[in-house]
Amino acid sequence: MSIDRRFSISATAALFPVLLLCGWLVVHEWRAYVGADDALRAFEAYRAGLEAVEKVSAERGPTNSLLGQALPIPQAMMLSLRRARDDSDARIEKLLAMLQADRCQSCVVEPARIAEARSELADARANADRLIDLPLASRRERALTGAVDRMIGIVPQFAPAINALAANVVKGDAGALNCLILATLSADLREYAGQLGSHFTAALTARRPLDEDDQLAIERTEGRIDQLRALIDAHVRGRPALNSLAFDRMNREYFGVGIAYITDVRRLATRAGGAGISPGQLANRYVPQMRSISAFRDQVLDLAQTEVRRHREEAMALLAGSALASFLLIAALLSMVMLFRRRVIRPLLDATRVIGAIANGDLTAEVPAAPYRDEVKAMFDAIDVLKANSVERDRLERERASLIYELKTMAETDFLTRLLNRRAFESRARATCAEQNAAAPELALIMFDLDHFKKINDTYGHDTGDRALQIVAALCRETCRPSDIVARWGGEEFAVLSRVHDAAQALAIADRLRRRIRETRIPFEGGEGFTMTASFGVAFGLASASACDSGDVGRLFRRADRLLYQAKEAGRDRVVADPTTVLDDAP
Ligand code: GH3
Ligand code: MG
Ligand code: MG
Repeated sequence: MSIDRRFSISATAALFPVLLLCGWLVVHEWRAYVGADDALRAFEAYRAGLEAVEKVSAERGPTNSLLGQALPIPQAMMLSLRRARDDSDARIEKLLAMLQADRCQSCVVEPARIAEARSELADARANADRLIDLPLASRRERALTGAVDRMIGIVPQFAPAINALAANVVKGDAGALNCLILATLSADLREYAGQLGSHFTAALTARRPLDEDDQLAIERTEGRIDQLRALIDAHVRGRPALNSLAFDRMNREYFGVGIAYITDVRRLATRAGGAGISPGQLANRYVPQMRSISAFRDQVLDLAQTEVRRHREEAMALLAGSALASFLLIAALLSMVMLFRRRVIRPLLDATRVIGAIANGDLTAEVPAAPYRDEVKAMFDAIDVLKANSVERDRLERERASLIYELKTMAETDFLTRLLNRRAFESRARATCAEQNAAAPELALIMFDLDHFKKINDTYGHDTGDRALQIVAALCRETCRPSDIVARWGGEEFAVLSRVHDAAQALAIADRLRRRIRETRIPFEGGEGFTMTASFGVAFGLASASACDSGDVGRLFRRADRLLYQAKEAGRDRVVADPTTVLDDAP
């Protein structure tokens, strides 16, 4: 496995847990953000729920007033009831819109129950309207109590949805718990405060004293109001943000003026003729005091909303921060890996390739010209030097080889004729004679000597003699076969060693050479030139490994030399072979 591949695998293995960790962190922060966002939306729905309940409660004020009002009902009172009903309808609609699944997951709580409460509210209103349409005297007391109780009975139906929404807010933002408890307690207080007023409706409408049932209901409601007050006090205590002007106002207006007014009315209503106050009058004095409860509740809700919003913003900042940090970390790691790969791994691979090529003798490998820095640059500079050294060494080696070759050639070659010299001829002769060749088993040594050469030198000069020797050498090369070994034996004497099929073939070569020498005109400056002759001695032997030791070849040379001498003796310009054969131009 290449180092590049191994590095890629290791880098991936190291990056994977980092990616996993960053992914986990971002997903975690995303969930926290979604939770906080859901909590905010659930909180808005919760607030809408409380406001809807408040409006449904508030609707009872004008309803009770009308139930105690003689016909014809004044226009202003009708208008106030219609406005109150429109208000609560709008709030219920808003609440139902907020309980839609597309708003938030934790908002979808009990929409069916709210819709049911809405239709029950419509029935309760219709029931109250029927009573209001009757003359005051015909409004039976039980029917009035029933109508009031039906209106009161609507409110608890909102409780499951509101409680579930509160629980969902706390799930996403536990810090909102105290405010939500306080808001719920205040809403309950507002509801019971409203109920307290409603308990007087029947008696005030009938202009009679409060009966035992009324007293019991009032007692029970007051007890509940006392409980709620104690609970609210307990939650406000030690929390300066909650112990505020709104809290003081509620204590002063509702628990002070409002409750004192109710106590007065209750005292008056024990008289035989009743309190002498209409439900409308009670509402006019009592209901404004209850607004301080809603104001306190609204302040608590505002506080909670600020808290939940801040929490959501923090979650968003954390999400953005962790996503950015993860991105930067991964980007930094990735660029480190890529940089290391580009700056170290790639150059290392390039260097390995170039050094490997140089080691294997391939000096054409290019040293990368990329703009490297630092140690990597130093390494490539060193490789450049190494390559240059190798190129130089290679050049020197080739020069040396060619010098050696030249020297060897010079040592083997005759300077004047460029034929082999005697020493080279002898060693080649031994090698040729040892070769196996069934088609040419015979070994023929042809030796010839130019006739009266001294005279040519004397007549035409030494240079012309040299020229004549060169021409004879050329004739030898042309006439002999490439496999023949041709040499200048010494002076004006030449030798040809030839592998032949039989003696006739060798004699033919020798005689052809003799003829060509005598027919060739040697040019001479200032004259027509001249011709020469040569005398040949041809000796035969059988080529074989054993026949080729130096002794046998030496014998072959001596015999050819003797036969050449015989050719000279016999009158020159002839070939004398062994066994005695003479080839000449004699007819
Ligand atoms: P023969 O027919 O008996 O061979 O007579 P020859 O004159 O050729 O024989 P000899 O041995 O008397 O003379 C050989 C001559 O060859 C003498 C020498 O000056 C000449 N010779 C030898 N080597 C060279 C050379 O390289 N160049 C020239 N120009 N002459 C050479
Ligand atoms: Mg001679
Ligand atoms: Mg000679």
